[in-house]
Amino acid sequence: MQFHKYDVVIIGAGGAGMRAAIESGQRARTAVLTKLYPTRSHTGAAQGGMCAALANVEEDNWEWHTFDTIKGGDYLVDQDAAEIMAKEAIDAVLDLEKMGLPFNRTPEGKIDQRRFGGHTRNHGEAAVRRACYAADRTGHMILQTLYQNCVKHGIEFFNEFYVLDICLTETEDGPVCTGAVAYELATGEIHVFQAKSVVFATGGFGKVFKTTSNAHTLTGDGMGIVFRKGLPLEDMEFYQFHPTGLAGLGILLTEGARGEGAILRNASGERFMERYAPTIKDLAPRDIVARSMALEVLEGRGAGPNKDYVLLDCTHLGAEVLESKLPDITEFARTYLAVDPVKEPVPVYPTAHYAMGGIPTNIHGEVLRDNDHVIPGLYAAGECACVSVHGANRLGTNSLLDINVFGRRAGIAAADYANAHEHVELPENPAAQVEAQVALALSEHGHERVADIRTELQATMDANASVYRTEDTLKTALHAVQALKERYQRITVQDKGKRFNTDLLEAVELGFLLELAEVLVVGALARKESRGGHAREDYPNRDDTNFMRHSMYYKQGEGLSADIRLDYKPVTFTRYQPMERKY
Ligand SMILES: Cc1cc2nc3c(=O)[nH]c(=O)nc-3n(C[C@H](O)[C@H](O)[C@H](O)COP(=O)(O)OP(=O)(O)OC[C@H]3O[C@@H](n4cnc5c(N)ncnc54)[C@H](O)[C@@H]3O)c2cc1C
Repeated sequence: MQFHKYDVVIIGAGGAGMRAAIESGQRARTAVLTKLYPTRSHTGAAQGGMCAALANVEEDNWEWHTFDTIKGGDYLVDQDAAEIMAKEAIDAVLDLEKMGLPFNRTPEGKIDQRRFGGHTRNHGEAAVRRACYAADRTGHMILQTLYQNCVKHGIEFFNEFYVLDICLTETEDGPVCTGAVAYELATGEIHVFQAKSVVFATGGFGKVFKTTSNAHTLTGDGMGIVFRKGLPLEDMEFYQFHPTGLAGLGILLTEGARGEGAILRNASGERFMERYAPTIKDLAPRDIVARSMALEVLEGRGAGPNKDYVLLDCTHLGAEVLESKLPDITEFARTYLAVDPVKEPVPVYPTAHYAMGGIPTNIHGEVLRDNDHVIPGLYAAGECACVSVHGANRLGTNSLLDINVFGRRAGIAAADYANAHEHVELPENPAAQVEAQVALALSEHGHERVADIRTELQATMDANASVYRTEDTLKTALHAVQALKERYQRITVQDKGKRFNTDLLEAVELGFLLELAEVLVVGALARKESRGGHAREDYPNRDDTNFMRHSMYYKQGEGLSADIRLDYKPVTFTRYQPMERKY
């Protein structure tokens, strides 16, 4: 075992982790631990944009942005957090510009802005141009820019280090976070990092689903680790399905396409969103568009030989717009479906995309132990966290914004805390749990294969916990997930070696996926209403009387017999009372 000592340890080198590192690294001795080489993080796959009410191309202001975010999130958004995000958005974009990010420009040289779903002028009047972008490679540019600035500031990276546990030390005032334990992919060695503050920035868990826009590595490790420590997870039933995945594959085509004017059509060529969202049509929020698409298919108006998808029509945009503003997705359609968006509409269907829920934090990124207390020294930001700015449904371009605004805040708060406190002793045998986990996975105790269990998990989640849910489908999913958890106890890992044992790590990641899938389904069963990304066919209406509240999940007990305890947390309101959500 190797030992390291830092002021701040950041787990994850996506947008949130690196934005935190830039702040923390200038204030305190900081290490970034990441299972991927930093520029391979999923932030680099983000396409369409990052929003801020810059008003560069038309009138806009941060208050309209706040309102859109809250209404888009079906009023489950904590309004204080949404206000901060919309206000700080402007500096967040300008900071990136100063760091060197090559945004698309207007003819006058200002940062250009495009339309995106749910972002409107004057509280819903019409779509507004709020998303700053770099063609359809905005995330790639953000990730490269942040990485270059981390290098400039001399941030220390531990690449291909899988964090599998954190250290909590009991004190008179309750538990404090004192470090993290990682498995080094290249050597199989275990490393203990003692730290005064630890920041989780580990991203989402889209791989619980089969059809997803998410990378293979998005297995919810950070959320899983926190949950296993008995700390809560928030609002996990709210998972976003992005309307335009390539049909049958799930590979994403950015909403920026519709922002530039692309139109969704059913088999008969009808622009069906006119019926569902008469004012902003194809630019309604994602939950509404995804449900409308699913309904078109369910009611027999789908396109294709099996009538199981709809069409994204970009043909009227012209080759020049497609090649200059949407080059990557144009290529994706050609490569993966052999469809040329310049000449013909592209088959699309909703794809699992984004976790609105996650590790609960306050607006400083401090992780909550329960509704009233934080864990000193523990922080979270980005998709793994729930602050909650996205409520029940995130608006497009608000995540790249979230990771920059709250990544920055968490980085500052973690460094300030580290500078004001001494190191607290680590618990006894800090690596014991990880050593046992690795030894168990490598021991011979069954014949179940990781890939089989993962495939079955993803199939049942796609079939039963996707765009539409009912009591029956969710119960089916719950029983399936619990049976898979039981089989997981008997997995075998074929590679018993120490060097680059990805076989072993896939087994560990599957453990996190199973646990998070169960939380998602338990939460979806308990929430007997439809709100944002959570649509229950058997409870089609939003129920503010009983469910205008965040869900908080706690793990109780160990292993298979563990229970999930469900609690609630009030939503923070500042200015906007819940209204009917029309677009
Ligand atoms: C295809 C696609 C397109 C998107 N387009 C947009 C868009 O245009 N606009 C927008 O706002 N949002 C978009 N999103 C969403 C947005 O990109 C993500 O929500 C956001 O980038 C997440 O950033 P993050 O820093 O939280 O996590 P990530 O970028 O996913 O980074 C996670 C990091 O955690 C590390 N990590 C994970 N587990 C461990 C572990 N156990 N140990 C050590 N390290 C670990 C990884 O190595 C990685 O560095 C898109 C998402 C996808 C999938």
